[in-house]
Amino acid sequence: MDLTLTSEDVAFQNEVREFIAANLPAADRRKMDLTTAFLNEPEIGVEWHKKLAKKGWSVPSWPVELGGPGWSPVQKYIFDSECARAATPVYNAQGSRMVAPVIMHFGNDEQKEKYLPKIVSGEDHWCQGYSEPGSGSDLASLKTSAKKDGDDYIINGQKIWTSFAHRSNRMFALVRTSTTGKRQEGITFILLDMDTPGIEIRPIIGNGGDHEYNEVFFDDVRVPQSGRVGEENKGWDCAKYLLEYERGGAMVAGRVRAQFTQVVRLIHARGLIDDPHIRTRMAEIGADLDTMEMVDIGTLSKLQSGDNPGAMSSMSKMRWSSIRQDVSELALDAAGEDALKWEAARPLYDALQLPPDEEELLAIAPRYLNYRAYTILGGTNEIQATILAKQVLGL
Ligand SMILES: Cc1cc2nc3c(=O)[nH]c(=O)nc-3n(C[C@H](O)[C@H](O)[C@H](O)COP(=O)(O)OP(=O)(O)OC[C@H]3O[C@@H](n4cnc5c(N)ncnc54)[C@H](O)[C@@H]3O)c2cc1C
Repeated sequence: MDLTLTSEDVAFQNEVREFIAANLPAADRRKMDLTTAFLNEPEIGVEWHKKLAKKGWSVPSWPVELGGPGWSPVQKYIFDSECARAATPVYNAQGSRMVAPVIMHFGNDEQKEKYLPKIVSGEDHWCQGYSEPGSGSDLASLKTSAKKDGDDYIINGQKIWTSFAHRSNRMFALVRTSTTGKRQEGITFILLDMDTPGIEIRPIIGNGGDHEYNEVFFDDVRVPQSGRVGEENKGWDCAKYLLEYERGGAMVAGRVRAQFTQVVRLIHARGLIDDPHIRTRMAEIGADLDTMEMVDIGTLSKLQSGDNPGAMSSMSKMRWSSIRQDVSELALDAAGEDALKWEAARPLYDALQLPPDEEELLAIAPRYLNYRAYTILGGTNEIQATILAKQVLGL
C-alpha cells in the first residue's frame, strides 16, 4: 500500500479536518478529555455519529451498498488519524465493528435489512453477551441455555462484564443449544432486544469508579428464532469471526498517540521534560507507537482487500493494550502526588467545574486504574500470545 499523500488525499484530509472542526462542539471535546473509562458514554457519541451518518461517513469500513463511503485505504487511514487527533467520540463500536461484520457474513437478508441500517443511522446501540462467570478465556464452557419452544428460544443464565448493557437496546449473545459432543459445537449466536421481559441488568462499578460493565441475568427470556445468525450449534464460527474484528478491526495507534501527545504536554507544563526517567519512558513509548502504526497499516490493508484481520488482530490487541497502559502510567508519573486527589462522582465531566489544567489532573488516576482492564478485555494478553504462537509461529 502506498501511503504517500496525493493532492487529492491532502484535499480529503482538509475536508475531514473542516468537518470535525464544524461538527464536534468544544463541550463534547471536554467530555472526551474527561472520560476515564475505556469507552466513552454513548450519549457523547450519538449526535456525532448522526452527523457522520448524514454525511455518509458513519461506517467507514463497510461496503458502499450497505452504507460505507467507498474510501480508498489511504482515505480510511486519513479519516481514522484525523478522528484520533481530534479525539472524536466513538459510538456503538460493538455494533458497527463487531456484530455488523458477522451479520454481513453469516446473516440472512431479513437480518441484514432489519439491523444494518439502524447501525448506520445510530438508532441502535449494541452490547456483547459473550462472557459468563467462569467462561471468559475459556469461552466455549459457557452455560447460558437456549431451549426451543415453538418459534422461539427460552433463554436462562447469566452474562457478565457486559459493557454498556445499561445503555444498549440490542445484544448479540452466545448461548448453549446443545450439551452433547464438542463444547464448541453446541453454541448458537443470537440477536435479541434488551427490553425483552426476563432480562435484568445489574451494574458493576470498576476500580476507577466508572459504571461501564454489568451483569445481565436471563430468566425465561423468550427470543424469536429469527434472531439466530447462521445455523443452530454453529455459533462458534460467528464468535471467532467477530473476535478478530473486536481485537483488530480498528485503527487504534492514532488514538493512543493522541493521548500520548496530551501527556507530553502535561510533562512540559510541569517542567519535567529533563527528568531522565520521564525522557526514557517517552522515547520507549514513542518507538512502540511507531511500530504499532505499522501493525495498524497492515491490518487496514487486509481489511480493504476483503480479508478479515486474522491472527494480526492478536498482535494488534496485545500491543495497543500494553502501550495504552504505559501512557496512563507515564501520566501518573508526571502528575505525581497531584494524581491522588479523587473525585468520586461520575461522569467526571458532569461533576467538575474547574480550570482545565486542574480538571485534567483528576482524570489521571481513574484512567490509570481503568486501563488495567485493557490487557483483559477482548481476550487477555496471555490468550493472544497463545494464538500468535499457534497461528503465526506454528508452535
Ligand atoms: C473492561 C472490560 C469490559 C468487558 N466487556 C465485555 C463485554 O462487553 N462483553 C463480554 O462478553 N465480555 C466482556 N469482558 C470480559 C472479557 O472478555 C473477559 O474478562 C476476558 O475474556 C477474560 O476472562 P475472565 O475475566 O473470565 O478471566 P479468566 O479467563 O478467568 O483469566 C484469569 C487469568 O488467567 C489467565 N488464563 C486463563 N486461561 C489461560 C490460558 N489458557 N493460558 C494462559 N493464561 C490463561 C488469563 O490470561 C488471566 O490472566 C470485558 C472485560 C473487561 C475487563
